[in-house]
Amino acid sequence: MENSVRDTVVLGTGCAGLTAAIYAARANLKPLVIEGHEPGGQLSLTTLVENFPGFPEGIQGPELIENMRKQAARFGAEFMAGHLAKADLTARPFKLDFVGGKTITARTLIIASGASARWLGLPSEQALIGHGVSSCATCDGFFFKDKPITVIGGGDSAMEEALFLTRFATKVTLIHRRDHFRASKIMLERARKHEKIEFMPDTVVEEVYDVSKKEVTGLKLRNVKTGRIWVFPTGAMFLGIGHEPNAKMFAGQLDMDQDGYLKTHDFVMTKVPGVFACGDVQDRRYRQAITAAGSGCAAATEAEKFLEEHGQ
Ligand code: NAP
Repeated sequence: MENSVRDTVVLGTGCAGLTAAIYAARANLKPLVIEGHEPGGQLSLTTLVENFPGFPEGIQGPELIENMRKQAARFGAEFMAGHLAKADLTARPFKLDFVGGKTITARTLIIASGASARWLGLPSEQALIGHGVSSCATCDGFFFKDKPITVIGGGDSAMEEALFLTRFATKVTLIHRRDHFRASKIMLERARKHEKIEFMPDTVVEEVYDVSKKEVTGLKLRNVKTGRIWVFPTGAMFLGIGHEPNAKMFAGQLDMDQDGYLKTHDFVMTKVPGVFACGDVQDRRYRQAITAAGSGCAAATEAEKFLEEHGQ
């Protein structure tokens, strides 16, 4: 499949990429969809999704993704596992080099490579993702109704998550590794004033309990100034330590903001004609499954229009 020029290559199999794949496949573009090292994107890391329209009882994130994948395949999308090493967008068809040596050329490229949540990197944290450890308060907060919840981070995301989680939690503890906060003044003040939010600065998480029970029961914490170590009971741990857009491979060829998110105009257009970006790799504001799907639809529609205008 790698020798012929593809009409459309979709980079990424999260909500944005798979929606783009469905639309491109139905437009008969036979998209090649590249599945990277986080297949299914962030939805595949969550459990019940209750705010995706059309599922009154909610749907499991991995199931939603699997359904989209099947839907795209049914209309002729092809899937290939791969990790993009280098892209040459200076001439059409675009040249995409993958780790392992494969090269694919494409008349249009839809970048839907997403943004990866930052994690602390503790094995116990990784083992409990989806079981009390989450990076998305909007997705998972509801499951911890009437429980004490902990949020990690000192930026706007952490403040926003903490404030949102006060709707459900008995108490929200905001743990930050320093006593200085990156968050904007207004967000920080709002969080500080909230009666349900308690700040715990200068503190780091060393372990998440309890992997054997498959639920979060507490955190092993260390005060970085005093060295004190203790176990802090909590019902859930939400990470608000930022996201990293997966766009480094386009540095120098596409415009990015200061944090590496792809800049688009007119919703999904990059500065290179024929290259479109959708989903979390270009959206730092909404980051929702439904907005990612919407922009995926737009990107595929634009790719189709582009091919019509510029010839197959
Ligand atoms: P951020 O501003 O980069 O903050 C990340 C926070 O996580 C920092 O406090 C950082 O601590 C901490 N952190 C990073 N890695 C960590 C680790 N391994 N262990 C413990 N703590 C760690 O990221 P963000 O909050 O996601 O915000 C990103 C951008 O989006 C910002 O420009 C923000 O203003 C914007 N944003 C705006 C809103 C809003 O206005 N409503 C909402 C969300 C995001 P240190 O400070 O010690 O480095």
